[in-house]
Amino acid sequence: MNEIATGVRRLGDDAVNFFLIEGEAGLTLVDAGLPAHYRQLAALLGPRIRDIRAVLLTHAHIDHIGLAGRLHREIGADVHVHAGDAAMLARPVTANGRWKAERSLLPYALRRPAALRTPLHLATHGAFWSTTPVPASVAVVDGVLAVPGRPHVVVVPGHTAGSAAFHFPEHGVLCTGDALVTDDSIIGRRGPRIVCRAFTADSAAALRSLDALAGLDARLVLPGHGAPFAGSPAAAVAAAHAAGTA
Ligand SMILES: [Zn+2]
Repeated sequence: MNEIATGVRRLGDDAVNFFLIEGEAGLTLVDAGLPAHYRQLAALLGPRIRDIRAVLLTHAHIDHIGLAGRLHREIGADVHVHAGDAAMLARPVTANGRWKAERSLLPYALRRPAALRTPLHLATHGAFWSTTPVPASVAVVDGVLAVPGRPHVVVVPGHTAGSAAFHFPEHGVLCTGDALVTDDSIIGRRGPRIVCRAFTADSAAALRSLDALAGLDARLVLPGHGAPFAGSPAAAVAAAHAAGTA
């Protein structure tokens, strides 16, 4: 199901992606979707779900961490996140279920009511009420991670303070999370770009961080939102710079 490269599966739905990477010594999940995606993962893997050794988070926004707490609790998977996002992961929503964008969504929604489609999707898939916190996580830093797939971490702050990309040279893929997406549903634009200001902490830093990805060797760029980009990281980064900020 959904094998987009040898040993690489795309999971999630139209609103958000996460990825399963097959390594020699087990499975690694890059990002963790929404709580409702557990059924999809369990149907795909059956008892092999226990082979998931690590959950690597590109960042700790609520649309990417849905299964992390459950996999940590139930099968002992280590959850890796950059220190800059660890506090967010430990407390993804406030006690009354509230969660905030970086800036008000109102101007976006007034211009384009469809901007609210993704927040509604998150709500109906359990993001606000069923996302369990992950109290203990492993801090990622630049370098190679000793988890299945042997990814190289590239820290790319901007979308969040602790955003990171995961490069799997043996699989030929680069997982960018929301540091570089190919679909921004809030503004209704497709193609490689950084996420609009409503959900990006520091857009200038996000654009600068892309340069750390441009030199990597991969055949597919796998974003947190939107279709895989079938080209080099350099081409995706050039397109994102051309798209600029919104
Ligand atoms: Zn996202």
